[in-house]
Amino acid sequence: MNDDRECIRDGFVGINGRDLVEVGPSRDGLSGATELDGCGRVVTPGLINAHTHCAMTLLRGFADDMALEPWLQEKIWPAERGVVEEDVYWGTLLGALEMLLSGTTTFNDQYHFFEAGGRAVLDSGIRACLAGALLGILPGAPERLERAIDFCREWNGAANGRIRTMLGPHALYTTPLPLLKRVRDAAGELGLAVHTHVAETDTEVRDVRALFGATPVRALEQLGLLDVPVVAAHCVKVDDEEIGLLAAHRVGVCHCPTSNMKLASGVAPVTKMLTRGVTVALGTDGACSNNNLDMVEEMRLAALLQKVATGDPTALPACAALALATRGSAEALGLGDEIGQLTPGRRADVVLWDFTRPHLTPTHEVVSHLVYSANGADAHTVIVDGKVVVRNRQAAQLDVDRIRGKCEETGRRLVAGVAGG
Ligand SMILES: [Zn+2]
Repeated sequence: MNDDRECIRDGFVGINGRDLVEVGPSRDGLSGATELDGCGRVVTPGLINAHTHCAMTLLRGFADDMALEPWLQEKIWPAERGVVEEDVYWGTLLGALEMLLSGTTTFNDQYHFFEAGGRAVLDSGIRACLAGALLGILPGAPERLERAIDFCREWNGAANGRIRTMLGPHALYTTPLPLLKRVRDAAGELGLAVHTHVAETDTEVRDVRALFGATPVRALEQLGLLDVPVVAAHCVKVDDEEIGLLAAHRVGVCHCPTSNMKLASGVAPVTKMLTRGVTVALGTDGACSNNNLDMVEEMRLAALLQKVATGDPTALPACAALALATRGSAEALGLGDEIGQLTPGRRADVVLWDFTRPHLTPTHEVVSHLVYSANGADAHTVIVDGKVVVRNRQAAQLDVDRIRGKCEETGRRLVAGVAGG
């Protein structure tokens, strides 16, 4: 995923501390170095999930086959009222575990009880950008926002840079105007990015137009919110002029194909946005609207959805889909100089995929296999910040049974009081 999209056969990757120091043709090991045998494996940059709500793993499968607005208002938000800080810790650990085991080394999160999310990221070894979800409909929203701003100050750069922070207003239609202005000003002052949902559905566009007199991207521009770095999840309902604004303001658009399909939101014009120079990332969205956090599946669906939407089988080829999930996501998160490609000087976030499996045989073209034939379970070894966190498909530092037990119990409690739970 470097600028030349080089694919090195019989290659060698050298890691020193947390950094990649060498990427090139195979050679004998360095003296005193630990060696990982890559025979039969394909080595890629770790995948980057640029939009999720990690602890929503706790509500996975609880409410399906519904439209976005009733799904949120009748099911998800009532269930989330019971969420306490400890739940977010375990739900985030579960999501981090799922992502690490399927080759994702970084995620961009927006959720409640961000300190608990931060602790889970520390304990799991994964890399993350964390934003406190700001919902104007919840009581005490202004105080919550101030706490989120404090969190950003305290946690940005934590764990040797493994944790970054952002501000996370849920969306224009759920955030009152004074809070949006506070978000804009705080982001400008502290040099933070804003992670928000933008132009996800027709209903959202209608509501935003009624509230702000403009469509979502135009409203963001008018509010000055595009003058700070923005990660905009979805951007399904954007017109040509808005695509121009997204490119001009270097907004990182996060495409979430599974979520958009499951909630029948529509098809984001990814091919057109890429042609117009928009930075496009890839994400799973929360586990409630997916219902897994497998970025390999997301790459395949991104490629297939663009083909079916444009009637063009050459739209979003395999290499472009892999680029969305790696360097595209890295650039959208403002981490393009650190992760998203295997280039010396960047952090050692690396996945070894097991290409000895029947569904990946014979290996004619590795990128095609990764996008169209593989799945997350093919991640064999995963390294984050130079540390092996998954070895032979097993989490190296997490107690899987304990996390599963806690999350089973918590999930049952959360849905108990909600209709259908
Ligand atoms: Zn979302």
